[in-house]
This record gives sequence, structure tokens and C-alpha cells, in this order.
Amino acid sequence: MLDKRKFFIDGAWVAPTTVNDLMVINPATEESCAVISIASTEDVDSAVAAAKKAFTGWANTPKAERIAKLNAIMSEYKRRAADMALAISMEMGAPKLLSENAQVASGIHNMQGVINAASEFEFEHPIMDEIDDEIIIHDPIGVCGLITPWNWPMNQVTHKVIPALAAGCTVVLKPSEIAPLSAIVFAEIVEAAGLPAGVFNMINGDGQCSGSHLSAHPDVDMLSFTGSTRAGVLISQAAAHTVKRVALELGGKGANIIFADADPQAVRRGVLQCFDNSGQSCNAPTRMLVERSIYQQAVECAKETANAVKVGLSNEDQNALGPVVSEQHFEKIQGLIQKGIDEGATLVVGGVGKPVGLDTGFYVQPTVFADVNNQMTIAREEIFGPVLSMIPFDSEEEAVEIANDTPYGLTNYIQTTDNTKAKRVARQMRSGMVRINGSDSATFAPFGGMKQSGNGREGGKWGLEDYLEIKHITDWK
Ligand code: NAD
Repeated sequence: MLDKRKFFIDGAWVAPTTVNDLMVINPATEESCAVISIASTEDVDSAVAAAKKAFTGWANTPKAERIAKLNAIMSEYKRRAADMALAISMEMGAPKLLSENAQVASGIHNMQGVINAASEFEFEHPIMDEIDDEIIIHDPIGVCGLITPWNWPMNQVTHKVIPALAAGCTVVLKPSEIAPLSAIVFAEIVEAAGLPAGVFNMINGDGQCSGSHLSAHPDVDMLSFTGSTRAGVLISQAAAHTVKRVALELGGKGANIIFADADPQAVRRGVLQCFDNSGQSCNAPTRMLVERSIYQQAVECAKETANAVKVGLSNEDQNALGPVVSEQHFEKIQGLIQKGIDEGATLVVGGVGKPVGLDTGFYVQPTVFADVNNQMTIAREEIFGPVLSMIPFDSEEEAVEIANDTPYGLTNYIQTTDNTKAKRVARQMRSGMVRINGSDSATFAPFGGMKQSGNGREGGKWGLEDYLEIKHITDWK
């Protein structure tokens, strides 16, 4: 078993002040694969003090030097890609191909997007071309606490650490205690890149003690959080006394609107997207809204697609579903599937219980429900497992109404061959992102939500701006 009890503080690996061990469980084997420590408030204080001490030096480091360090992190990250993929598979169960081609790769895309944006960003410029004695300076906000979840661990770590460092901020990263191993590899990568001591610090810990102490800390100027809406609310409350900036990337309950004129692959694509990463994605299209004239046909297609999905740690099939992250999460998903049945939705495929032959590991059956209405629990709550809810609609107006009738507003999806209709519907979506006809987004695109999906934007220049203060100066001659 790996011993990963140390934290990375002020440029060195240090033991926790108090022994408080936590086992990391591999969800595919249900066995402990590593031991980490839970940071005490003293450990959090040391990490914040190191970041505070390093701030002025890093903030005044020329942009070109900061970017050179980020490029060094990127090169080392690519060199350690295999270690990173293995760490992610062990901690949260992603099968090897998914871990390599999606989980690790997302970190590279994010880093490149921010490095490009920071290279082009003007940190100092006149307020207007015609007024050259008043200027705007974009200052780094200061010490940043970064709290991340377990589902796309490197996607989220790089979405925060890289823009914060590019902006000139110093950071304390607290990854999820459920999936801390990839963040430890990441800290080794940053160490090898040779940043000044204290610029990047990493502690492990839980939400209740370590996370909330970091959120409330008076020397933390900004808290950037990705995770559940529940924790986002608690973090905002803890942070309020210090009036620090709080950036939130929270849950989602994406609608995928499939019109009768959609391309024939739309339903299959939507099912696989919902199941991707075993359904553990905040932007998953979990509510499939289908125009009634093709509804039965769509249910048949979803059934066939779900039945063909392999569950298990396949090394050949990137669509194969690994386990969900933990026993507790497995039980939560089982409860919600049962709720779907109890509330009268039609179970088309899957259901409660583990898939046949997979008794060990937290594997969930790919599950499709039909005849769902938008008031049912499975249509309202984020399940975060491979569970699709199919809802019929009769008109474009009704589809828009159902899609927007959710506390969340992260990503919605539209499938139609009528471009005018696609644009009309996209404009009405109350979400931070809309994907039309299965299209991909640019690596530097803004990622974030509206309503209870949060308030920040990560990626490219938008991610960078989250970590900057605007300073206006007059009489600049
Ligand atoms: P979680 O909220 O339980 O935990 C996330 C992180 O917050 C962990 O590091 C945890 O230790 C910490 N935390 C928990 N309670 C805290 C508290 N009171 N104070 C400070 N820190 C606290 O979420 P999770 O289960 O790890 O992740 C799944 C959730 O993340 C889902 O809801 C998902 O939608 C969301 N998510 C959102 C995005 C996005 O960009 N919008 C991306 C990925 C995941």
C-alpha cells in the first residue's frame, strides 16, 4: 500500500502536525490502495502562511517567467502521463483508456488553453485608446484556496492551479480526500518544474475540517471550488465573513433536447454521453427530452445502446464503464434508481443491484428510465451515475420550458438538423453552455454555469480573469 501521508508546503514534503490517517479505497477492488493524512487547522495555517509569504515575489515575477514555469509544468505532466493515469484509475476507478485519453488529456488541454490566453493577455492597458493617462492594471487577487472534487480530478486541478499561477497568485490546493493520489502526482510535477517555494502548496483533507478552515481563512483572498451545490453553499457561508471572492463550479442536470428531425445518431450519442465516466460528470446530459413523434423509437434505441455498453475495466473499449467512486456513492445511486421505480417511471434497462458477474467493485448497471416527468426525483436530482431519464415533449416551447425547469444551469444539448431552430432554442437556454448536434468545444472555451450550477468560468482567458483584480489608476503620465 502506498504511504502518501505528507503534504507539499513551502517547497518541501512535510509530515502532518497531527496523525489523522485516511485510507484511499480503489473502487474497482474495494481494497485500500494508499494511506493519506487529513490536514489539521495547523497544517492549513502553515500552507496558507507559505502562500502568503511567496505572494509578493511571484506576483512581481515577469509574465514571461511565469509562463516559462507553466510550460515546465506542462512538459513534466506529459512525461508523467502514465503515472497520472494510473493514479486516477486507482483512486476513482476510471478504466485505463478513459484515464489516459480523457482524464489525463483534459489536463493538457486546460493547461495549453490558459498558457495561450496568458501569453496574449494584456495585464496593463489604457482605459480607452483615446484616454491614455488612465490605465487599468489586472492585479493577481492574492492567496487562493482551491478545493476540487474526485470525478475529473486533473481536469479540475489544472482548471484552477494553472490560471491562478498564470495570474500571479499563490495557491493552496486541497483535492478530494476520496481521490487524492493524482493531486499528489501533480504536486511532484510542480516540484520538478522548480517553482519558488510557497507558490504552490498542497494539503490533503476533508471538507468539514480542512476545507472549511481554508474557506474561512482570513489570509485567503479567493476560494475557488468545484463540487456539489451542498458544499458550495457551506463554503460560501464560511467565506462570507472575510468577504473573499468565491468562485463556484457546482452540479448539473443537463437536458438533451432531441427534435424529430435530429440526425439518426443523436439518441445513441446522448446515451453514451450520459454514461461517460460512469455518469459522474457535472455536464452529463441526464434528461433526454424527445419529441413525441419519435419517442418510442428513441426509447428502443436507448435500450439497445445501453444493453451494448460493457461494464468493467476493459482495456480495449473506451466506452466501457468503470465502477462509481465509492460504496457510499453506489448506495446513493441505488436509492435514486429505486425512487425512479417507486415514483412510476418505466424501467427500460438496468435497475438496482450490481451487473451480473461483477460482485466486487462499486459497479452500477447502465440504467434507462422512460415515461419520466420532470417533477420526478430522478429528473430533479443529480444522480451522478449511469442513469438516463427520457421525457417526451410535444412542442418546442414545452421542450424549452422543461429544459429550464431545474435549479441547475450548467450544460444543455440540442439535436436538430434545422439550424435556425437550434439557434432559437440555444438562445433560450438558462445554462452557461449549450452544445448543438454533438459538437466539441475549443480547449480555451469558458466552462461554468448559471443558477445553482455556480458563478465562475474556467478555461482560457475567462479562467484567468477569475483570479485577477481590476485596478484603475488616473494621471498616468
Ligand atoms: P463534494 O462537494 O462532496 O466535495 C468536493 C470537494 O469539496 C472535496 O474536496 C471535499 O473535501 C470538499 N468539501 C466538502 N464539504 C466541504 C465544506 N463544507 N467546506 C469546504 N470543502 C468541502 O463533491 P464531490 O462528491 O467530490 O464531487 C461531485 C460534485 O461535483 C457533483 O455535484 C458534481 O456535479 C460537481 N462537479 C461540478 C463541476 C463543474 O464544473 N460545475 C465539475 C465536476 C464536478
